[in-house]
Amino acid sequence: MRPFEYIRPGAVGEASQILAERGDGAFLIGGGSAAVVMLRLGVVRPECVVDLGGVAGLRGIEANGALRIGALTPIRALELDGGARSRWGLLAEAASQVANVRVRNAATVGGAVAYGEPQTDTPTALTALGASVRAASAKGERAVPIGEFYLGPYETVLAPGEIVVGVDVPEPPPHTGGAHLKFTIGSPENKPVANASALVTLDPASGKCAGARAAMGAAGPTPVAAQAAEGLLGEFPSPERIAEVAAAAAEEADPMEDLRGPVWHKRRVLKVLVERALLCATQRAQA
Ligand SMILES: Cc1cc2nc3c(=O)[nH]c(=O)nc-3n(C[C@H](O)[C@H](O)[C@H](O)COP(=O)(O)OP(=O)(O)OC[C@H]3O[C@@H](n4cnc5c(N)ncnc54)[C@H](O)[C@@H]3O)c2cc1C
Repeated sequence: MRPFEYIRPGAVGEASQILAERGDGAFLIGGGSAAVVMLRLGVVRPECVVDLGGVAGLRGIEANGALRIGALTPIRALELDGGARSRWGLLAEAASQVANVRVRNAATVGGAVAYGEPQTDTPTALTALGASVRAASAKGERAVPIGEFYLGPYETVLAPGEIVVGVDVPEPPPHTGGAHLKFTIGSPENKPVANASALVTLDPASGKCAGARAAMGAAGPTPVAAQAAEGLLGEFPSPERIAEVAAAAAEEADPMEDLRGPVWHKRRVLKVLVERALLCATQRAQA
């Protein structure tokens, strides 16, 4: 590993200024779970590493209307948070499926979002939930809907010097159930071949679907919101209808062939994951 300068700023503005001034020579790390591997393998060879870990005010979860999550909040804290589990269960469930406890204690919510790895679990759940990403620089802060945040694999709309400082997640309406599922090869701790999140809202009077959203990971270069899920609106979400919607969602997907499998296999996995996630979300909404 090439030697580098290590800087641990105490404020977002300071971190942002260093990143903007040093340009490509600087490399930001959040939890370090991916970044340290990149440094070790020489995938990145920066002149200086900017460790966000010392920045105050970026840790914590507030469930007050919307769920407001600080960028440095560990994935493990999201998994265990009482407010998140009770009203944003889909997101806590996605967090609980990330790798293992050791990785979940290190990896941060902001790092998972900013990394832009197409099969990462939490961005899929955040896409289904219609979250927005808070990005800040020395110039100020802006909120970007997660559907507009990704440009491609490992590529986001973050400008030079901009840092993810948090994520805001709107509260799902009453009578909503959610579910997140991932499929791996080998150990369940491995990164997913694909994943899917679903959110179903039922009209308690009629039992019909009043809202349905689904999102898929590893279904394209970025997390993909499955438009097909809207096909459930106004209908009884029967297993047969859900199977049709899931098949249409898998057709929308544009997976890439990689070490985790060919396109045809990922599409088949996505169909099963979306179907099971919608079924599970429906059952949870009924309960
Ligand atoms: C063995 C292993 C298995 C894993 N399995 C899964 C899995 O099954 N599912 C899953 O979802 N994830 C999984 N992960 C986690 C995932 O791949 C990333 O490692 C993790 O999400 C990165 O979070 P971090 O905070 O550690 O980011 P870092 O490693 O610190 O950074 C990752 C990238 O994001 C940038 N970055 C970090 N924080 C910010 C910020 N606040 N603003 C702007 N840019 C930032 C860095 O510059 C870097 O480019 C796994 C990781 C490992 C090591």
